[in-house]
Amino acid sequence: MSSAQLSAGPRQASGGHILLGCIADDFTGATDLANNLVRSGMRVVQVIGVPEQALQSDADAVVVALKSRTVPKDEAIAQSLAALRWLQAQGAQQIYFKYCSTFDSTADGNIGPVTEALMDALTVSHGCDFSIATPAFPDNQRTVFKGHLFVGDVLLNESGMQNHPLTPMTDANLVRVLQAQCRRKVGLIDYQVVAQGEVAIRRRIDALRAQGVGLAIVDAVSNDDLLRLGLALKGMALVTAGSGVAIGLPANFGLAPSSTASALPAATGGQAVVSGSCSLASNRQVRSFIQCGYPALGIDPMQVAQKESAGIDVAAEVLAWAEPLLGRGPVLIYSTADTLAVKQAQGQLGVMQASALVERTLAAIASGLVRRGVRQLVVAGGETAGACVQALNIEQMKIGPQIDPGVPWCHAHTDAAPGAGLHLTLKSGNFGSDAFFSKAFTILQ
Ligand code: ADP
Repeated sequence: MSSAQLSAGPRQASGGHILLGCIADDFTGATDLANNLVRSGMRVVQVIGVPEQALQSDADAVVVALKSRTVPKDEAIAQSLAALRWLQAQGAQQIYFKYCSTFDSTADGNIGPVTEALMDALTVSHGCDFSIATPAFPDNQRTVFKGHLFVGDVLLNESGMQNHPLTPMTDANLVRVLQAQCRRKVGLIDYQVVAQGEVAIRRRIDALRAQGVGLAIVDAVSNDDLLRLGLALKGMALVTAGSGVAIGLPANFGLAPSSTASALPAATGGQAVVSGSCSLASNRQVRSFIQCGYPALGIDPMQVAQKESAGIDVAAEVLAWAEPLLGRGPVLIYSTADTLAVKQAQGQLGVMQASALVERTLAAIASGLVRRGVRQLVVAGGETAGACVQALNIEQMKIGPQIDPGVPWCHAHTDAAPGAGLHLTLKSGNFGSDAFFSKAFTILQ
């Protein structure tokens, strides 16, 4: 075992010591990672930000959900190092830095700078001189081949991500992309090495290290590649990846897939969907839910703004509509709209103002729904999910069964649902099948 590796001893999660400590750079991404760990046998808790106290529940892994993807890099580093210190204090034997499966970053970071800051911190304690990076997640059509990231059938820079407002991805060559963000030399572990398995991967890591390489992009085009890679990562102090690599890590701690890892309390109460995502997938999901005949109410940001300035409480109006329907089946409240409508609202109200207005309104509605008896809540949209979880004052969530790839049910305690707590799912914009909103509730039964 090299100096860069920690000894991953036998399972010792009970008694408050966790095995794997994860740092996710956004909220729905944290849930996506947690979902893959649960499916591979780990009991996982997701915490919102860095907790002030020690972990209260028994878990094999904890995912600290940060909002560090697009903040200034010094802030991202500070948040990530705080998360690292807390996870180490909980006994984490290995650290996993999770970023987006489309490698969302700019030439300034934050993937490279955060990775290097974590490596620097772990060098002191664990001699961490090498780590890997791969956003591959074949179950969600993200594959890496010869260091190039594919989204479905096209290269990253032709996938639409080249037009992302905050993190435009104009180069699919991840070795080049990561090198531009790092002091350390970046190399590649290509698919031919990965295909040969653990020993070949370890040999390649040693060869790269001997060449002065500190970080390597890893090819993976299938779950088998990720499982082979996982074996070779046993004992590596820091792993950086999308959520895909997570499927290969629990086995290193002696854990195997089991339904007990995803067990949640029995679900009760009313069912509701709150959607603030305007992604293509969410638009399809809203249409599908309405076409199935479920009750749905759309809110329009420009109308909300007008009503607010006339002193009308829009959330209260929406809740008055929803209340008599709860208990008869799921209801949907949505601001989901197509690009044209979003641009109109943004043109009239301002981009940030429109977002903030919608997030605030949907969060008040989500919280009001729970206070009126909803105990199964679907929230669509990353930022929307953040706003709703904040309004519900949720600090941590236990991760349960998967609904669709990347999206599990979770269970949380909140003052709004005293006693048995709340089942909720946080769907990242582009995830989920068209029937997601109705399918989610059948999974929970
Ligand atoms: P996604 O995961 O699809 O990116 P998010 O919730 O992260 O979804 O982001 C969607 C953003 O768009 C939120 O800030 C939300 O408040 C805003 N938004 C939602 N509906 C509208 C709308 N109709 N017009 C303008 N902005 C909207």
